[in-house]
Amino acid sequence: MSDIILDSKSFQSAVNKISREISDNNKNIREVVIIGIQNKGVFLAKRILAEIAKLVEIDKSRIPFGTLDITLYRDDLDDLSSKMPVIKDTVIPFDTGRKNIILIDDVLYTGRTVRAALDVLMDFGRPKSIQLAVLIDRGFRELPIEAKYIGIRYQSEKLIKVECKETDGVDRVVFIK
Ligand code: 5GP
Ligand code: MG
Repeated sequence: MSDIILDSKSFQSAVNKISREISDNNKNIREVVIIGIQNKGVFLAKRILAEIAKLVEIDKSRIPFGTLDITLYRDDLDDLSSKMPVIKDTVIPFDTGRKNIILIDDVLYTGRTVRAALDVLMDFGRPKSIQLAVLIDRGFRELPIEAKYIGIRYQSEKLIKVECKETDGVDRVVFIK
């Protein structure tokens, strides 16, 4: 059906592609830390972490893993396009200084969430790099932010639903009707 953007097979291929590109670009795995953005970005980040660990043949517990909880809300009724990212919770129990941070989210749209994440990450000390990975790039950026690793680009003004096994029982990306 045309309203399926990724089925479970192409979802897994996208995860594998992102993981391979991350490990190709980061030969020193000891410098890599992975941070997922709640909610679906965390599940994706865990999958990608496990895949990278397999590719470089280390135990997945050796790759530091953290989470950021950033929610967008509309705070201005006069301007429906104004979305404010609010940082609710940060779990980064390791040093990010001189590390290559792989920041992972499900969908990239205006770029506001990632911008807020960068603010938080820079407060933790000076990383060597911050590399953004997203499953879907929906286009329509309002800020100069781009992902280094992209599962698929799917220009869409319509909302997309990202389902994953852990929460929905299936890996799938569909349009919200
Ligand atoms: P942005 O801040 O780039 O506008 O939006 C990115 C954040 O909003 C991400 O955390 C993402 O989860 C969520 N988001 C934006 N557009 C969509 C969408 O079409 N579907 C889903 N599921 N989440 C979206
Ligand atoms: Mg989100």
